[in-house]
Amino acid sequence: MNVILLGPPGAGKGTQAKRLVSAFGIVQLSTGDMLREAVAAGTELGLRVKEIMDAGNLVPDEIMVALIEDRIGQADCVNGFILDGFPRTVGQAEALDSMLNHKGLTIDHVIELRVDEEILVDRIKTRAKETGNDRSDDNEETVRHRLSVYRQQTAPILPFYESKGALKAVDGMAAIDQVSAEIGTLVGGRR
Ligand code: ADP
Repeated sequence: MNVILLGPPGAGKGTQAKRLVSAFGIVQLSTGDMLREAVAAGTELGLRVKEIMDAGNLVPDEIMVALIEDRIGQADCVNGFILDGFPRTVGQAEALDSMLNHKGLTIDHVIELRVDEEILVDRIKTRAKETGNDRSDDNEETVRHRLSVYRQQTAPILPFYESKGALKAVDGMAAIDQVSAEIGTLVGGRR
């Protein structure tokens, strides 16, 4: 089973992806985590993307598409994967589509976590405090910028999946367990 989780920063994609991993034995592909690892390891990719991420902007499509193509081709993805943080632009969604077509793969579910933006800013601030999180892009100004990048560059992919009849929305403001239960119901039929 292959799933895409969509929603603005702080919507809970990472939390829900981890629950799907344990429930379905598929892997979580978080492009944000992959990029942060590259930055921490000081690789060439890390050096290229650090400033872009700190500013809350998007890394160029060609870098992201190559990263995901490589990752999806690895052995642990055979049972399926959850994309968390990708695609984030219409260009990435189209590239993903043709990449999957090429490999004979399809996306089974595209799930949008719908949330209230003002509450997101508070959520991300709380997450930063509670976890002692040192993400250099979690200050209020950058969070607001990431939200506007989401509205301008990522939200336009929703109609792309809607037109394919693949999009399903859940209420991301509900309690974590309730959100997972809703997602479980949506994907349950295709286990
Ligand atoms: P968020 O909390 O904003 O959802 P992520 O951990 O998914 O954060 O991503 C952090 C940063 O990594 C983004 O602001 C962006 O700079 C970069 N990034 C992650 N995924 C992508 C992608 N698919 N395309 C472009 N940039 C990305």
